[in-house]
Parts: sequence; C-alpha cells; structure tokens
Amino acid sequence: MSKYNDHIAIVGAGIAGLALGCFLQKYQIQNIVIERNNNISNEGAGISISPNGIRVIERLGLLKELKKKAFLNTSASFFSEYEHVLTNPVNVFTSTRSNIYEILKKEYLKIGGQILFDSEVTSINKNKCEIVLNKKDRYKVKHIVACDGINSLLREKGQKNKNIYSGYSCWRGIIKQNINNVNLVMSPKSHTVIYPTAQEGYASFVGVIKKEKGFVDSWREKGAFQDFANDIIIPPDYIEAFKNIDLYRWGIYIRKPMKKLYTKNLTFLGDAAHPIVPFLGQGGCLALEDAEAFAYFLKEHQITKAQKYYNENRIYRVNRISSMSLNQGRLYHLSNKTFINARNRLMQFKFVRDMSTSFLWDYDFLNSKLNNFNS
Ligand SMILES: Cc1cc2nc3c(=O)[nH]c(=O)nc-3n(C[C@H](O)[C@H](O)[C@H](O)COP(=O)(O)OP(=O)(O)OC[C@H]3O[C@@H](n4cnc5c(N)ncnc54)[C@H](O)[C@@H]3O)c2cc1C
Repeated sequence: MSKYNDHIAIVGAGIAGLALGCFLQKYQIQNIVIERNNNISNEGAGISISPNGIRVIERLGLLKELKKKAFLNTSASFFSEYEHVLTNPVNVFTSTRSNIYEILKKEYLKIGGQILFDSEVTSINKNKCEIVLNKKDRYKVKHIVACDGINSLLREKGQKNKNIYSGYSCWRGIIKQNINNVNLVMSPKSHTVIYPTAQEGYASFVGVIKKEKGFVDSWREKGAFQDFANDIIIPPDYIEAFKNIDLYRWGIYIRKPMKKLYTKNLTFLGDAAHPIVPFLGQGGCLALEDAEAFAYFLKEHQITKAQKYYNENRIYRVNRISSMSLNQGRLYHLSNKTFINARNRLMQFKFVRDMSTSFLWDYDFLNSKLNNFNS
C-alpha cells in the first residue's frame, strides 16, 4: 500500500510521538502517528514538568492548557529521613501522565493530525523504509520515527540492547492529601516523592527502593499495603492516606546509552532512545526536547542531514542526564552518616544546587548549538 509514501511515520502516541506530531503539523510536514493501543494511555501516575519541558509546551502554544491540567509548584522541600534539610523555590508543573498525553493528543488532532489506533508496528524493513502493522498491513513511508518507549521494538535486538534492571524498584499511588509543593524524603532504604496533581486534594506518590531483584516491568502490577509499608518509610501523617488505595509497583529498567540516535531511515526519540531512571524527573521533558529538535531539523533540512544534526544536538545532553539521574539515586540513598551529613550541608548552598539544575532546567533548544547547523 502506498497511501503513506510521503508521511513521516511516528511510532507511538506517547509524549515524544504526540509532541513530534504537533510540531510537524505546525511545520506542515506530512506525518501519521501509529499507536498499538485503542487510545492514549490513561496512566494515572504522576509526572513533573520542569522549566526545560515547560518551554517546549509553551512553544506548542499549550501553556494555558497545561495550567488548567497541572499544579504549579513554587517550592520543593527536602527531608533526610525526618529531618528537614531545605525548602527552595522551583517552577515545576506536576500532573498525571494521562493529562499530558491528553493535552498533546487534543492539540495534535485539532491541528489536523491523524492517529492510527489499534495499530501495532510488528516489524519494519529499514532498507525499504516500510512498516508492517498488526502483522499484515505493509506501508512504505518517507521516514520512521521510533517513539515507542522503553521496550522499543524498533531498537536492534541483541544482547547489547536488552533492558537492564537498574537496581531500583518503585511503588506508586495517588493519595487523598492536600499539599501544595513537592516533598522529597531521602533515606538509605528508600526515597519518596510526593507532589500535588491537578485534581484538588489529591497527590501523586512515588517511593523508590534499592532491591537486588526487581519487581516486574509493568506499570499495572498491584501490590499489598503491608509489603509497601515494609519497603517504604511512610511519614506518620500519611499512613491513613495509603490505606485502601490502589498501590502499584514495578522495577525500573534502563538500556545502555545509544552511541547514535539514528540509523538508515529510522530515528529514535524519547524513551525509545534513552530510557533513564526517573530520579531527576527528566524522561518526559527530554522526550519533549527531542521532539522539538528533530522537528526543527526536519523543517530546515532533508532527512539524512536532519538526522545527523539531531544526533549532534542531542546525544551529549541525553547521555549526560542519563548518568546524572543514576548518580542522583546514589545520593538520595546514601547510608554512611558522614556522607549523609555532608550531602545535607552541601544541598543548602545555592551554588551547589544551581550546578545541576541549571544544566537541566535552563536548556532551551533555540539557544543551543543551532547556529552550527544552519549552513
Ligand atoms: C516512576 C516514574 C516517574 C517519572 N517521573 C517523571 C517526571 O517527573 N518527569 C518527567 O519528565 N518524566 C518522568 N518519567 C519518565 C516519563 O514518563 C517517560 O520518560 C516518558 O513518558 C517517555 O515518553 P515516550 O513518548 O518516549 O514513551 P511512552 O510515553 O512510553 O510512549 C510510548 C508509546 O508507544 C506505544 N507503542 C509501543 N510499542 C509500539 C508499537 N510496536 N507499535 C505502536 N505503538 C507502540 C505505547 O503504547 C505508548 O503509547 C517518569 C517515569 C517513571 C517510570
């Protein structure tokens, strides 16, 4: 079949795929989003969007929508077990992943985008630039963009590309609790993050534990309150909030960083390119940044050049944030008292905090190395 000959095929209607679709629609570049499920995910888990991600949302013209569906946190408080370490100003929206998907989907469809639901890409032929949907329908397309998440089918199979258990597992839930900022508790056994969602009176909770053998890699596995209470230090004020709610648990998996974010006829964005541990809250933000960058290069250049420039623009940043996120986990879970005291002291210095947050949060694609790529 040839009806998508001139289309960029975007595999996956997640954050990366939908944001890329929105940018391509704005640039009038023909594209189609392909999603294996019958709708976007209704995943209730929380997500935070930091200033680098907010910038992308703003340039898509969606800041107003984000404000409606997310909570703007102006401070974040850090605790070392029960000791308050610091509260510092931030500018971070928190919401649920399903809200972010919904905002992007609504916009993409409004500006004429097309999503093929119930369409799983079951194989591709890179040389011919063909995709096969649901093991039967074969389409020739102009280019394939893998936005199909951590378990990306489009990444080469083989030992090097297997998911690797990160050593951390996670509990999560949405609790009935009125809070109005981000709270993060560090402890050797677990670290926990609680922040408001857009729904008044509800907060998202994530508790991360170090565990030799991980929980399964599924966001839908439920766990029992007692197991949860054995794993996670729950501040006394919160215990009631956790009883009688759905608690989910899963293992956090990563992959070896890619050396190059593209191959022939195929480019990788978001978790398909760089699944990272979520300890700096950057996976979704990087997916948004990737989408803006690749769309921009596609607008300015023919595809092979766009791929090259996209890679040069993104590879250092995504791989550095991947290792920064792992280091952040080590810092949160320190167990040596001297190191814990040193960490808590250092965190109180603004210049120390700025060192890491400015690399993450001040990034703006339009001020990045663009000028090098315009020739
Ligand atoms: C506990 C936790 C907390 C997090 N917190 C944050 C946070 O605070 N801030 C932040 O920025 N990020 C956070 N993240 C990361 C963030 O959620 C992900 O990085 C982001 O969702 C990745 O977007 P994506 O579009 O690449 O992939 P996904 O959102 O996973 O989308 C992939 C899509 O592809 C579809 N798909 C897969 N295979 C196929 C196929 N073969 N054919 C068709 N469709 C297919 C899937 O159904 C899915 O819809 C967190 C992650 C976790 C696990």
